[in-house]
Amino acid sequence: MNEPSAIIGTQTRPAPSPGDGRTNLLGLSREEISTALAALDVERYRADQIYGWIYAKGVTDFEAMTNLSKDLRSRLQDAFRIDRPGITADQQSVDGTRKWLLGFEDGNAAETVHIPEADRGTLCVSSQVGCTLTCAFCHTGTQRLVRNLEPGEIIGQIMLARDHLEEWPSAKEEKRLTNIVMMGMGEPLYNYDNVKKALEIAMDGDGVAISKRRITLSTSGVVPMIEKCGAELGVMLAISLHAVTDDVRDMLVPINKKWPIKELLAACRAYPAAKNARRITFEYVMLDGVNDSEADARELCRLIKGIPAKVNMIPFNPWPGSAFECSSPEAIKKFARVVEKAGYVATVRTPRGRDILAACGQLKTESERLRKSERPN
Ligand code: SAH
Ligand code: SF4
Repeated sequence: MNEPSAIIGTQTRPAPSPGDGRTNLLGLSREEISTALAALDVERYRADQIYGWIYAKGVTDFEAMTNLSKDLRSRLQDAFRIDRPGITADQQSVDGTRKWLLGFEDGNAAETVHIPEADRGTLCVSSQVGCTLTCAFCHTGTQRLVRNLEPGEIIGQIMLARDHLEEWPSAKEEKRLTNIVMMGMGEPLYNYDNVKKALEIAMDGDGVAISKRRITLSTSGVVPMIEKCGAELGVMLAISLHAVTDDVRDMLVPINKKWPIKELLAACRAYPAAKNARRITFEYVMLDGVNDSEADARELCRLIKGIPAKVNMIPFNPWPGSAFECSSPEAIKKFARVVEKAGYVATVRTPRGRDILAACGQLKTESERLRKSERPN
């Protein structure tokens, strides 16, 4: 972590102010927009047009909605707003990874990371401020949960990235934002309803229009919600497995005490996408001497046998005060070889953005839960 970091920090703007009483349309579904507009006697087809302006074209100003009358535009302006989250900090790593610290209306913060690659670009989206879970190797887990993100705050991360990458209208041909991973701060299946609403807009061909095959949701293993996610969203699934025995997983991923490995893997076998030859990714953080032996690798292959799967090994990313060391490159290679020999694709996730603490598990913001005495009544 001694590399120099390129901090841009210029593109900041304050969080939107909710004070003027206008409703923020960002995050509302097609139906909800239609209902909100019905109060102004706006016809349904107009609501569909406005939905398209907001999500497919990225417009934030009603004045730009040129197929609406001047009168309607000004009435909309009086009643509604289309606000992205604010940007508190904007940092770029030497490797091109970019991290935005977002400021929300109530003063809370969360992070979004864009990871450019030669042929695609992935946006790592947060679902909560902090996380209620406390995985032993994760920086986010040391931050007490402040709250779930609202649908507009989740879809707002994608909109904001598109603004900065200048990719409006929605890119039909793939550009720099091609893939979404729900792998930022928080456990997305503990904020399922809001994540679902945001992803439905992201996947809608008339909305942000990103195919569900290019959206991956990562979970630490909230077993009862995995089935729901498969049935309702059908996005790609990634499982933070990280260990092959319940003893070790109980220690690393404490949610395992509630839903142990056997139940987790049963939910994976039942995941509909897995039947469509769309493989489930098993994420496996490589911790020196903890979970990284060849015997562990063999056990991993035995456990996931029969599941269309690939294994994504994540070299442990250190953070201030973390108690683990990353496995050696030799141990990682040996582990990968065992997995490949068993017929699975094994990838090693190249750490990106380590210099700006943007890599997996390094995200943490200063938001803290307000003490009772400080909460507004
Ligand atoms: N909460 C969800 C998604 C966010 S974390 C989940 O746990 O799946 C994204 C991935 O990074 C998870 O697989 C997580 O276990 C992993 N991760 C967390 N801390 C890490 C660290 N310090 N180094 C490497 N990977 C880490
Ligand atoms: Fe939460 Fe995921 Fe971090 Fe675990 S790894 S503490 S579930 S964000």
